Amino acid sequence: MHTTFHVDSDGYYGPYGGAFIPEILHKNVEELGACYLNIMNSPDFQDEYQELLRDYVGRPSPLYYARRLSERVGAKVYLKREDLNHTGAHKINNSIGQVLLARRMGKTRIIAETGAGQHGVATATVCALLDMPCFVFMGETDIARQYLNVQKMEMLGATVVPVTCGNKTLKDATNEAIRDWCCNPSDTFYVIGSTIGPHPYPDMVARLQSVISEEIKKQLLSKEGRDYPDYLFACVGGGSNAAGTYYHYLENDKVKFVSAEAAGLGLESGQSAATIHLGREGVIHGCRTLIIQTPDGQIEEPYSISAGLDYPGIGPLHAYLAKTGRARVEAITDQEAVEAAFALTRLEGIVPALESSHALGALMKFRFNPEDIVVVTVSGRGDKDMPAYIEQFPTFLKR
Ligand SMILES: *Cc1c(COP(=O)(O)O)cnc(C)c1O
Repeated sequence: MHTTFHVDSDGYYGPYGGAFIPEILHKNVEELGACYLNIMNSPDFQDEYQELLRDYVGRPSPLYYARRLSERVGAKVYLKREDLNHTGAHKINNSIGQVLLARRMGKTRIIAETGAGQHGVATATVCALLDMPCFVFMGETDIARQYLNVQKMEMLGATVVPVTCGNKTLKDATNEAIRDWCCNPSDTFYVIGSTIGPHPYPDMVARLQSVISEEIKKQLLSKEGRDYPDYLFACVGGGSNAAGTYYHYLENDKVKFVSAEAAGLGLESGQSAATIHLGREGVIHGCRTLIIQTPDGQIEEPYSISAGLDYPGIGPLHAYLAKTGRARVEAITDQEAVEAAFALTRLEGIVPALESSHALGALMKFRFNPEDIVVVTVSGRGDKDMPAYIEQFPTFLKR
């Protein structure tokens, strides 16, 4: 049986995906679905997008051979350094692409949702650069927890809109952003921060992040004489850095995918964000996918030490990669992630984001053949996570 892992014409990956949206947004989402490929493939878009990726983001990001980490895990390990991008993570690749697309569609107002604030900061950054008004919806709980990012967004000229309903976190911020979009369907473009939401968002975001695997192919070819690794490791929140890492290898069976989701305090603890391990099918924020929910279908509040991984759903592509066995999914606890972060810092002098540390935690647990070539995407840098790491000093810095 030939399986494709690319989205079908109805917006599905197997049983997952689709576009479940309020009536008032049908025209918008259909318009976007009809034009995103044409615009993204046009020389005019590509010229501006590629130039900004190069000169503004700093791409290509290095593929770094991590010698001491390789010795530790017993394989040849390369790190794809998305942590070195402007604003400190992969999210800017997507925000730039969507705002450029919005402009070409004649939209004059940008909205976005944010949890920890990383997507909000990336989008506010691009809106400052391209002179677009930007409104970022953020739960009040998250505003209190991530005040520095709120101030950064305001300094960049964005309006941070506090969301007071529900648990006042990412899920509620997303609902509010969708509500705003319903009220302003003609002039507003909704920049979604991961491979989630109604079709065509998951595919659009995967394509905008696919620059990651495009670069890995070229970089491996020059370093190893072949353009593919044996393994790719990435963390999955909504799934965008992983989708970008896997994209140009989806149909190459020689490359094995290992996705790391957040097990929080443990799979059985009731305090986790391991959507693929624990989720059941349902519809969230416009698509059918796996969701952490109660037996009667209420979405449960996820938990992870890493703010970027505690989303109760998962991008439909990743639900499908897991269901078909194309990707192996590891649930990594807070503790395993933090251990991996301290290990990487001492072995390579790189402080990774807590999200990325989950991918590194999965790497540390894995058994390899010594000749295996492994690429781990370091989705972001750890500066934002220093308060969490400092809390762990008593455990990890004793001799
Ligand atoms: C947001 C974020 C993630 C999780 O998002 P994905 O869409 O799953 O990539 C991972 N790493 C970092 C550094 C982030 O900021």
